[in-house]
Amino acid sequence: NTTMAKEVIHTNVSNFQMLYPEFTFNLDDDLDQDVEVKIYRNHLEQILIILLDNAVKYSMDRKEVLISASLSYRSLEIMVQDFGEGINKENLDKIFNRFYRVDKARARNTGGNGLGLSIAEQLIDNYNGKISVKSHENKGTAFTFVLPIVDQEDSKELKEIN
Ligand code: ATP
Repeated sequence: NTTMAKEVIHTNVSNFQMLYPEFTFNLDDDLDQDVEVKIYRNHLEQILIILLDNAVKYSMDRKEVLISASLSYRSLEIMVQDFGEGINKENLDKIFNRFYRVDKARARNTGGNGLGLSIAEQLIDNYNGKISVKSHENKGTAFTFVLPIVDQEDSKELKEIN
């Protein structure tokens, strides 16, 4: 139930690049070595797909998505940023609610039912992580989430148990 994160991030970003060749996905990976994160691979993938999918859906003209991965203390921090329509202040604290969609998103033809972010948040919570968002209307949105990593002491303990 741990996952080597770097590989998963690279694989999912290149899948999106294949699916959306008109977009530029810039992966800024600050990780020298791969990091072992305390999450199931499927779940990390699901979170990435939800955020990348939203970035594509709400990007408008500037078809550019920035993804970064870095270590911060005992966590892995992943950011997915777009330069699209953004989210205004009144809506920003509601987007993690189940079935919530901003009017603009509802009116447009991008599909979706407002579940993605609530699922992502729940998954991240379950693994003692955190997700946050920064957004400016018509400028873009950046989602950042952190997940605990397996540090050296953890793996020492594991070896002693086994
Ligand atoms: P789905 O259930 O397919 O994920 P969805 O995209 O509508 O559909 P969420 O992912 O939960 O659902 O997002 C909720 C709402 O938050 C969206 O409808 C949209 O209004 C807003 N939102 C999410 N991501 C972005 C983004 N990157 N830029 C602008 N708005 C966003």
